[in-house]
Amino acid sequence: MISVAEALERLFALVAPLEPETVPLRVAAGRVLAEDATALRDQPPFPASAMDGYAVRGDAVAPGARFTVIGEAPAGRRFAGRVGSGEAVRIFTGAPMPEGTDRVVIQEDVTREGDMATVTGTPGPGPHVRPAGADFRAGDRVAAPRRLSAADLALLAAMNLPEVRVTRRPSVAILSTGDELVMPGEAPGDDQIVASNVFALAALLEAEGAEARILPIARDTESSLRAGLQLAQGADLILTVGGASVGDHDLVAPVAAALGMDTAFYKVAMRPGKPLMAGRLGASAMIGLPGNPVSAIVCGTVFVAPVIRKMLGLGAAPAPRLTAPLARDIAANGPREHYMRARLGPEGLEPFASQDSALLSLMAEADALLIRPPSDGPRAPGETVEYLPLPRP
Ligand code: AMP
Ligand code: MG
Repeated sequence: MISVAEALERLFALVAPLEPETVPLRVAAGRVLAEDATALRDQPPFPASAMDGYAVRGDAVAPGARFTVIGEAPAGRRFAGRVGSGEAVRIFTGAPMPEGTDRVVIQEDVTREGDMATVTGTPGPGPHVRPAGADFRAGDRVAAPRRLSAADLALLAAMNLPEVRVTRRPSVAILSTGDELVMPGEAPGDDQIVASNVFALAALLEAEGAEARILPIARDTESSLRAGLQLAQGADLILTVGGASVGDHDLVAPVAAALGMDTAFYKVAMRPGKPLMAGRLGASAMIGLPGNPVSAIVCGTVFVAPVIRKMLGLGAAPAPRLTAPLARDIAANGPREHYMRARLGPEGLEPFASQDSALLSLMAEADALLIRPPSDGPRAPGETVEYLPLPRP
């Protein structure tokens, strides 16, 4: 059995960042920028008014100063002439500053009578002007790799970039295995259950930016598994679920081996999730996840999500860990790294009393996986522990 860290290293070795593609900005949210994006213009492109008011020469501004208003500059239409001393242009937010002006007196500080504008308030230091290029300059870059946020999209739009180069989405085929499984909505036989964890895995992968495809369930026969793996061909990553231990009906390893899988490892010292298998199968990376619903979701979080991030060009890094105090005491851990389902409350992390890896109802209540290092001693309330947050939409 290898450690979680070692397993992750070997998984990273199975995949490489995928190639970039060009997508319209409109659908680029959450995608990973694959190449630096370069601004095509300065923003603002001209010195612009930051307020509604009067554009003047700054040295003439004082309480009681009077200006003749010689024109107007709304946003999108600059004042064509030059502004001399004793003159002002009525200006609005976003409009280019007229030639000869360097300050805006806000309209609240001005009384207007006909063509005359008189400073009646006590103007602050101003100047209420956004200098050209204050936000960014032509040639400035948004550096790759970077997962694009809502604000990033606005920034790229302002740079006048209608399209961006992003990493292609990894395609993932998910194959459930087991004679006991039916799909939700079907009528399960007396001895059957509903395939569940594949829906969690698909959601988790899609949240990371992958494209997930749930294949028809493979039965616990060699031919059915072969057919399932055949259907998975062409995916960047194949995930099998179940059938990965060493029971008589656990056929994933032998069938994958017969199809030529080059096995990278077979078992990991973790709880839940010990039977985890990985390798390359044809052009795809393959990860064999345990069938236990909670194990599959934990392995998806600990292993598959970081693998997807590497494929997206975000580097090879484990799922980011946070720390919190323990809300209650916990007993010593065994020899395997334990991912305990927990809730994060005002007192800190509270692991559930039951850690049965078959209980999806508890998994759905959890918002954190408390991480116990192998052979960690007992821990008291208030001690700091590490955890993986379980994101909620
Ligand atoms: P296995 O790894 O095939 O021995 O499965 C371990 C446990 O997980 C068994 O109780 C299976 O019935 C269950 N299981 C396997 N695959 C799934 C699935 N896709 N959804 C829900 N439970 C599953
Ligand atoms: Mg099975």
